[in-house]
Amino acid sequence: MTELKKLAQWAEKELAEVSAEEALAWTRDTFGDRFIVASNMQDAVLIDLAYQAKREIDILFLETGYHFPETIGTRDAVAAVYPEVRIVNAEAEQSVADQEAEFGPLNKTDPTQCCFLRKVVPLQKTLAGYDAWVTGVRRVDAPTRANTPIVQWDDRNNLVKINPIAAWSDEKFNAYIADHGILENPLVSIGYLSIGCAPCTSLPKPGEDARSGRWAGQSKTECGLHG
Ligand code: SF4
Repeated sequence: MTELKKLAQWAEKELAEVSAEEALAWTRDTFGDRFIVASNMQDAVLIDLAYQAKREIDILFLETGYHFPETIGTRDAVAAVYPEVRIVNAEAEQSVADQEAEFGPLNKTDPTQCCFLRKVVPLQKTLAGYDAWVTGVRRVDAPTRANTPIVQWDDRNNLVKINPIAAWSDEKFNAYIADHGILENPLVSIGYLSIGCAPCTSLPKPGEDARSGRWAGQSKTECGLHG
């Protein structure tokens, strides 16, 4: 077992109850420049929390080529509001045009393969340069995320995964946005509660979980990034 994996297993137990701020301080002190903060640019809550711990952070954005213009605008606004951060745009090897010319509309015919090419592979390649990544996964996002720990070993990508706001309720999350004037993707205000690529994101149905608008009408519920 690698030292990193042992560290993750220790931290999963020892840091099980820590606050988001404590988890990010530990991440900074433990990994220095060797961690990256992932964002889908739905909001800048996680970015803001990480920025309070360390100004010069790398922000991972999976630039699939299929994003809403509002999402790209939010990414650019983040760069302006948090000037010391470095946005890392992880892109697929093929452009959208080349992929569609070769495979047709994969996001309709085989979304798992589309996500693999445009999200999973670029993520794996980017994470290979780090010892840890930080995500905004929360237990209340969906039943599949109900047991998310604050720190865990990411077996698929071979690095430590930190989920500082895993335990946050929607109330706590929304209060942080209101209290700190945090940037939000304008799509949130019209009801999009979980924003992914434009062709695969619709408004969630009333009473359903936030991610119900992702790949609506298909059996797929996750892009393959978080298990
Ligand atoms: Fe392709 Fe849709 Fe996955 Fe985006 S969310 S990578 S468009 S299948």
